[in-house]
Amino acid sequence: MPPVTDYPHNIHPSRATRSREDSPWLAFCQRLVRDVMDFALPSACLGCENDLHPLLEGRGGSQTPLRLCRQCRSLLKRHGPVRCRHCARPVAHTPSPSRTCSPCSRSNSALDDLLTCFDYREPFDQVIRAFKFGGFRVLAKPLAREIWDLHAERLNQADVFVPVPSHWKRQLGRGFNPPYEIARHLGRLSQKPVRQPLQRLAGPPQSKVALDQRRRNARRAFVWRNRRGPGRGWSLEGASRVLLIDDVTTTRATLESCARLLKRHGAQRVTAACLGWTPPPDP
Ligand SMILES: [Zn+2]
Ligand SMILES: [Zn+2]
Repeated sequence: MPPVTDYPHNIHPSRATRSREDSPWLAFCQRLVRDVMDFALPSACLGCENDLHPLLEGRGGSQTPLRLCRQCRSLLKRHGPVRCRHCARPVAHTPSPSRTCSPCSRSNSALDDLLTCFDYREPFDQVIRAFKFGGFRVLAKPLAREIWDLHAERLNQADVFVPVPSHWKRQLGRGFNPPYEIARHLGRLSQKPVRQPLQRLAGPPQSKVALDQRRRNARRAFVWRNRRGPGRGWSLEGASRVLLIDDVTTTRATLESCARLLKRHGAQRVTAACLGWTPPPDP
């Protein structure tokens, strides 16, 4: 694959991690500040809101990386590997050779695979809401780690990571794009490039739109990003296996729309990775 040169939209992981590797003192100081802050400022579990403090259960024993107490963390059930590759619904122990559930067996989905981590319900939904809307950008790293721990092998099969984009106004208000933050950390873990060839157009966020409207909205919500000048559109530069990253999926409409666009521009295979998965209604 050709070298990645489109910084800052293409962040190559080796470049992103270099400063910390070159400066163990910086890493040490960052860790020290974080430990002191954790010790000095009591925080609350994002699930049950009980106090979390190192003194309550011994140093470092009171909370898990997702800022949940141990009891709330134990409520999170990681998704197993035997799931439909289109909708992530659990399938029987002997899935069809194509690993699809029966409603999806006739699907013409542009998504080749859907990897998920947790059901989007309490207390995981509170972690995601804190990350997306509560300013807890710091959760990006442990959330990315959850995807990595479950799906590292599949992630390593991708050539490039592409986050689902936010509209620039929402990104400005929030200060960051949640899927991009996840992608950035996954890029470091897997040493894969992160690219942002997709652009989101103005429109209501999917979470505020009725379920049956989301597919229609998503179809018009994304375009391929263009640079200035003729013939200067973004390209996947030969990267044929794309990992599309989002925080939560409910109808898959957003992922489908992005996957179609990626395939129209050269992707051969699009796998989506999402942290939260909303179970679909029974067929
Ligand atoms: Zn709790
Ligand atoms: Zn299915």
